[in-house]
Amino acid sequence: MSNSSWKDQIQKKWGPHKHCPICGRAMAREKSLCSQSCNDNYTAQEKKKKKKGRRNTIMMVGCLVAMILIMFVIPFATPS
Ligand SMILES: [Zn+2]
Repeated sequence: MSNSSWKDQIQKKWGPHKHCPICGRAMAREKSLCSQSCNDNYTAQEKKKKKKGRRNTIMMVGCLVAMILIMFVIPFATPS
């Protein structure tokens, strides 16, 4: 009976490696992406993410400004 887990066995078989975050293929540890096409994919995804993040930030700031405006305007707008 062996104590080695399947993880150890995979490590022995493949050596030190990690998986490409785009296509999931095994590759050398030093690399961050396996191929040029994956690299292009990754940069495109990052760009999209950044765009989305910026939009979210603008939305959040917009909501905050709206809330502050409401908080300041309502006490003056409502006749007491
Ligand atoms: Zn890949």
